[in-house]
Amino acid sequence: MEGRSRLSNLIVQARLNGRALAHLECWNLESLEAIIGASNRLGLPVITGPGLSFADPQWVADGGFAPLLAACRRAADRSATPVLVVLNEANRLEEVRLGLEGGADLVMMTTADLSLEENIERTREVVGLARDYGAAVEGELGGPETGAPERREKEAAPNFTDPEQARLFVSATGVNLLAVSVGNVHTHLGGRAAIKLGRAEQLAEAAQVPLVLHGGSGVPPETIPALIAAGIVKINVGAALRSRFWGAIRRTARQPGAHRSYIWLGRMSPPDPLAEARLALEQEAERWLKLIARNQIANRHEIHNQY
Ligand SMILES: [Zn+2]
Repeated sequence: MEGRSRLSNLIVQARLNGRALAHLECWNLESLEAIIGASNRLGLPVITGPGLSFADPQWVADGGFAPLLAACRRAADRSATPVLVVLNEANRLEEVRLGLEGGADLVMMTTADLSLEENIERTREVVGLARDYGAAVEGELGGPETGAPERREKEAAPNFTDPEQARLFVSATGVNLLAVSVGNVHTHLGGRAAIKLGRAEQLAEAAQVPLVLHGGSGVPPETIPALIAAGIVKINVGAALRSRFWGAIRRTARQPGAHRSYIWLGRMSPPDPLAEARLALEQEAERWLKLIARNQIANRHEIHNQY
């Protein structure tokens, strides 16, 4: 089935059940296996794939992500649960093209820094390209702040998405999803981002396409049901997953036996630091899947009134 129709089927199901779709970023084979393992164990769909904005620019320019994307495609096709492959936050059209050739169901290009006119022009190119592959496109309007101190210095204050511009942008580009800025913060851990739920509701009304929230790691967990009620249909999580993965590697690499690398391939058990990291990440991925993709709005009105 084409990526676009697979995505819209998943969105319809998610909305019927009062859920959102979890976009859990992967960056290597172990993280991919952990995320699909979590999805299979819980019987919940997941969207996964590499994101290019927090990747080494030279690696990206050389198309280094193509083998990882191919692994995502194969793993998704073998999965017992629905897995959609995303190429997230491409910087250039050429990267989008590589992603589509690699079998991405969904592509997204970073355009938050552009003017509205340039953004529309660039995003229309992405939509035109993706159409040939039957893939879906996530557009971006407004720029989430970045939590990482080394990037924060270079960036201006958050640029919240404007509802009228969202209406115009969606009708001018034909995107299938819209990533919005409503107080969400990239690479931010600890769940303290000040989310503007009222703005999310206005945007859902104006945009008339499902909304996406980047920076899920920084969203207070108790806000997630209200975000879903407000119209957010996909929540992206990367920083929290990476943090858990690398934390496990740092802990395990010092343990006795961690150097006996010749016994490790496929065994996936301690003391292999990558196995430890994979197991830790699988737990973290399950936690996020339950937060985002399990029944959230059993009591929609009660939740809604809290915010
Ligand atoms: Zn993002």
